[in-house]
Parts: sequence; structure tokens; C-alpha cells
Amino acid sequence: MEDCIFCKICGKEIPAEIVHEDEKAIAFKDIDPQAPVHLLIIPTKHYDGIMNVPAGNDIVAHIHTLAIKLALRFGIADTGFRIVTNCGSQAGQSVNHLHFHLLGGRSFKWPPG
Ligand code: AMP
Repeated sequence: MEDCIFCKICGKEIPAEIVHEDEKAIAFKDIDPQAPVHLLIIPTKHYDGIMNVPAGNDIVAHIHTLAIKLALRFGIADTGFRIVTNCGSQAGQSVNHLHFHLLGGRSFKWPPG
């Protein structure tokens, strides 16, 4: 989608530190990391957010499997990690292209702020 920063990362129009690519999703390092490991996992196809993924679409399952692989690869699976998707402005969604934060490498508080 035009003017979508994450679509531009998928299309290599703007740089990012990409750590995984396949036909359905890419993962890259967050530009403003909130933990020692902070990756963003996004579908290559544009969805504004989690509410916009059609029922029956397997992209969320694909990203879930990928998140587990990346947690193992980045050494955060044993100590614990979070997978977070913010939906809507009040939840803190600032980029309207579906994305999942994979965070680990430190302790987290609950409830989240
Ligand atoms: P959210 O606030 O949940 O929508 O998350 C958006 C995330 O995208 C934030 O953590 C930003 O730091 C991150 N971000 C924004 N622009 C870029 C970029 N060009 N490369 C990597 N991460 C980005």
C-alpha cells in the first residue's frame, strides 16, 4: 500500500535490519528497541491491523510459528518472551500495517502500561 512504511520495508524501498524473509512474512529489528531483543514480524501483504485479517486466513498462524522459531534463534525462548500486537490508537498502534512485536531478553511487568 502506498505511503505505508512497512510495505516500503517489504519492498526494500527503505532499509531495515531484516532477520527473516519468506513468501508471506518478514521480520526485522525494531528501530526503537524496548528490550534487548525486539523484532517486528509482519505480513508482506498489507492489512491495517489484526481486525482486518479475514476469517480463515492463515497469516496469523504463520507468524506465530515464525515467532517461535525466532525466539529460539535469538536465545529468548528459555527465559521468556512476549508477542504483542497493538490494535488501535488507544492500545498504542502507531503503524497501520499489521505487526507483531517479539520482545525478550529482560524481565517484563504486568499489567503492561
Ligand atoms: P506500534 O506502536 O505497535 O504500531 O509499533 C510500531 C513499531 O514500529 C514501533 O515499535 C516503532 O519503533 C517501529 N518502527 C517504526 N518505523 C520503523 C522502521 N522504519 N524500522 C523499524 N521499526 C520501525
